[in-house]
Amino acid sequence: MRLDGGHPALDLINTLYGQVRQPPEYDVLRTPDDLQTFAARVGVGGEATSAAAVTAARALRAVCEDAFRDGKCAGLERAAQAAYAAGSLQPGGWVWSDAPMGVVHRLAHAATELLASEELDRLRGCDDCCWLYLDRSKNRSRKWCSMADCGTNAKKRRYIEKRRSKLT
Ligand SMILES: [Zn+2]
Repeated sequence: MRLDGGHPALDLINTLYGQVRQPPEYDVLRTPDDLQTFAARVGVGGEATSAAAVTAARALRAVCEDAFRDGKCAGLERAAQAAYAAGSLQPGGWVWSDAPMGVVHRLAHAATELLASEELDRLRGCDDCCWLYLDRSKNRSRKWCSMADCGTNAKKRRYIEKRRSKLT
C-alpha cells in the first residue's frame, strides 16, 4: 500500500492501480482488514470495519474520482450528506462513532474539506499512471505520483526510446 497522494481522499482514489480511464489493474481495498489498515495509515480511525464498509468505501472512491478528476461533485455531495447525518458536531469538529462505517464518513468529510481548501490548486494527475496527488514541491513541478515508481519508469522509457532512435 503506497500513500503518495498527500491527502486521505487522494490516497483513497489511489487504492486503484492502473492507467487513467482504463480498467483497474489492482485494487488495494478488497477486505475489511484492507480498509482498516488503509484508514489507520491515512489517519481516519483504526476501528474494525465490515464488508459493507468496504463496499461503501469503494463507492466513495468512485465519487471522489468524479469530484477530483472531473469536477463532478453530486456523488460526493450525497456521500457527505450521509456522513453528516450520521455524525455529531462537537467542539473540535465532527465525530463519528458508528463503527464500522465511521471510517467511510471520516473519509467523505476529509474529501469535502479538500474540495473547499486552497490546496486544491495543487492537485495534479501523475504523468504515468491514474493516481492523483497534491504537488507540494516549491516550484510546483512534480510530474509523477512517486519518483521511485512512475518517475523512474518514465525515465527508463525515455532512455530506451532515445537509444532506439539512435539505432534506426
Ligand atoms: Zn504514477
